[in-house]
Amino acid sequence: MRWLSFVLSDSRGPRNALSRLLAIVERFGFSPRKSEINLRILMDVVERHGVCPTLLITAVTALRHADIIRGLRDRGAEMAAHGYVHNDYASLSAEQQRRQVQAARTSLEGLGLEIRGWRCPYSRWNGDTLTALGAAGFEYDATPVYDWPAYQQERIPLSDDAREDYQRFVDLSSARDALTHVVLPTVVEGLVQLPMSIPQDEDMVDRLHLDLDSMSRVWIRMIRDMRERGEIFVMCLHPERAALFAASLDATLDEARRMGDVWIAPCGEIADWWRTRDAAQLTVEPAGEGCWRIAVTGPDAMETVCASDRLTGSGTMTVRTPRKPVVHCGPAWSNATRQRLHDAGYWVEQGGDPAGLALNLDAVLPPSSPADAVVLKVREHAEGLIRLNPWPAGFRACLSITADIDVLTLYDFAMRLKEF
Ligand SMILES: [Zn+2]
Repeated sequence: MRWLSFVLSDSRGPRNALSRLLAIVERFGFSPRKSEINLRILMDVVERHGVCPTLLITAVTALRHADIIRGLRDRGAEMAAHGYVHNDYASLSAEQQRRQVQAARTSLEGLGLEIRGWRCPYSRWNGDTLTALGAAGFEYDATPVYDWPAYQQERIPLSDDAREDYQRFVDLSSARDALTHVVLPTVVEGLVQLPMSIPQDEDMVDRLHLDLDSMSRVWIRMIRDMRERGEIFVMCLHPERAALFAASLDATLDEARRMGDVWIAPCGEIADWWRTRDAAQLTVEPAGEGCWRIAVTGPDAMETVCASDRLTGSGTMTVRTPRKPVVHCGPAWSNATRQRLHDAGYWVEQGGDPAGLALNLDAVLPPSSPADAVVLKVREHAEGLIRLNPWPAGFRACLSITADIDVLTLYDFAMRLKEF
């Protein structure tokens, strides 16, 4: 009953719940055969483009179908956890989360899988979730959702019902507006958090009934915008619809490869990169009139850019710029804002005298400003600032293909009602 009321009130609404039920009966069988076909379709598409996907699995489903899940690992996919059961983490206590997160990891590792990452079912979480993930030894969380305006930009008409359905998902997952946020990973409590982006296959296929061409346009638009902004697009797919979106995914990956400067990587690799980049150290010292000596200690593939100068990996460079190429902020600015500026690659000095520094935050915004709004403002004034490129080896942006495996059979689905 708890599941039913969650689905009817928050997740889908009654009209969608019915059409979703019909789709489930069509897409799953009593055996996992249909799911295996769809997983093969998904893996065939990504392999054709040399892409390693991250597959996030609900542990009880993996326990029932260990051979299929190990087969996906053997084909080269990164495996990660998507709940012990498929339930709502926003409504669980700290202790319940701690137990279930640990159980998910232990069960999946018990199947011989290497598990480092996590995404919450329904993209829902609360203040205790990251603590539970950290305690269970997870290295990254790929839950937070960002909402891109691709439907409007591509002029894809949304009926009132479709708009309402989409908004319901935005509300359910507390999706942040990509236009007013910075869609980059961050480090919280030692965990790397990777943003995922919508629209996704679920709304495009089931809620909007888009044709393949429109679906490709939406995803390609998101990739172009993300590349333009130098950010990350973590695509979230659901393998049960693989036959319905395969051609669009194919076209999207074609476009991403054609761009040539988009780093396409599984979540674990991105989290590793982000952690080492986050630990990079930098000093800026005066080196004569209008010159600054920048010393960097960081990963080999990291690029440090200032004006027209560029340094790869650790080392020093001298740049010519009238003011010290760092951001100044006073004592009132929060750690969260400084972390976000750090995520975006700007170097911040807190306290001291702002005179002679390239950008004084105190003069531009009040310290109470939302952290991402500050980064967007700094981006506008970025000329003359040092920037550590978010992505390695000269890549301009990042794409990751992920898929959530909630269930593989109708039995798994029926069990979800009981397990919720
Ligand atoms: Zn799920």
